[in-house]
Amino acid sequence: MNQTNRTEIATLGEFGLIKHLTQDFKPKNKSTQYGIGDDCAVLSYPSEKEILVTTDLLMEGVHFDLTYVPLKHLGYKAVMVNLSDIYAMNGTPRQITLSVALSKRFCIEDMEEFYAGVRIACEQHHVDLIGGDTSSSLTGLAISITCIGETDKEKVIYRNGAKETNLICVTGDLGAAYMGLQLLEREKAVFKGEKEIQPDFAGKEYLLERQLKPEARRDIIEKLAQAGIKPTAMIDISDGLSSELIHICTQSNVGCRIYEEHLPLDYQTALMAEELNMNVTTCALNGGEDYELVFTINIADHDKITQIEGIKLIGHITKPELGCGLITRDGQEFELKAQGWNPLKEENEEI
Ligand code: ADP
Ligand code: MG
Repeated sequence: MNQTNRTEIATLGEFGLIKHLTQDFKPKNKSTQYGIGDDCAVLSYPSEKEILVTTDLLMEGVHFDLTYVPLKHLGYKAVMVNLSDIYAMNGTPRQITLSVALSKRFCIEDMEEFYAGVRIACEQHHVDLIGGDTSSSLTGLAISITCIGETDKEKVIYRNGAKETNLICVTGDLGAAYMGLQLLEREKAVFKGEKEIQPDFAGKEYLLERQLKPEARRDIIEKLAQAGIKPTAMIDISDGLSSELIHICTQSNVGCRIYEEHLPLDYQTALMAEELNMNVTTCALNGGEDYELVFTINIADHDKITQIEGIKLIGHITKPELGCGLITRDGQEFELKAQGWNPLKEENEEI
């Protein structure tokens, strides 16, 4: 946070601060009739559209740690995780509202940084900031973002549409964001003098980027549409692949088998896991915050999907009685476990 150049929020007051932070945000979407400035924003969507709404709440000390997360990155990521939910429904994000509660630690320059990150994310994805709320807080920073998006009625993709014999696909690579978090936590411990390891980020930039600057996969949604593939079920990976696959399978009343050898891993993720003495497969299955997409497709789309770069087939959907399982490289079978939020907190090398 800004220590040298510090203007107290009281110098602008609440209304002045809102105006100052939001004046450069100009609505661009047709569906935004009216943005910031009145009691409500006004939206206008064509009647044939389905409207998608998603909300996230981020608490300092629970969801983020400002000792190593720059405020600009935090603003960017806070928006990105909401956009990711809209893409996971096969939708297009259009508007966000952004509410913040701030303690006295935060100055105007801090909020400028945070909103700069918000703005970059909004511009990249053509999303309008249309409102929010501002409050004081006694315990640090709290952020809540609501995102509104649209999709055609027949294009919405739920978690509950997976069918037996469907193929399971995953985008990008897994576990890197979790490894980035481990790296940042380790360097924080060094900074505090708790450990005698020198800070060392060299060669690990990818892991840091995955943790600090995740990218919502609009590109994948566009490529699937171009290829004429409509997934039968889809979810974004915020809590880890295992947990998300279990959501799909539970809601679709099916089982699944995925294959360890097909899990997409980056080289840096594997190296870092080795350095930390962790099982890289466990990281890929249970490490959260990758914001990749996992989805199921009809087997008839197999050939089309293999033409698309950045998508990997990792397994298939089975009858519900078979449960959710991972087949390891040596042919053993393990049940997938949903470790959910804050995975791997307790040392757990089981799959
Ligand atoms: P109200 O008293 O009706 O809640 P506010 O004074 O809080 O109104 O907000 C005035 C306008 O500024 C509204 O359009 C509101 O949505 C917007 N706004 C308030 N806080 C924020 C914020 N942190 N970020 C973006 N817009 C905000
Ligand atoms: Mg208000």
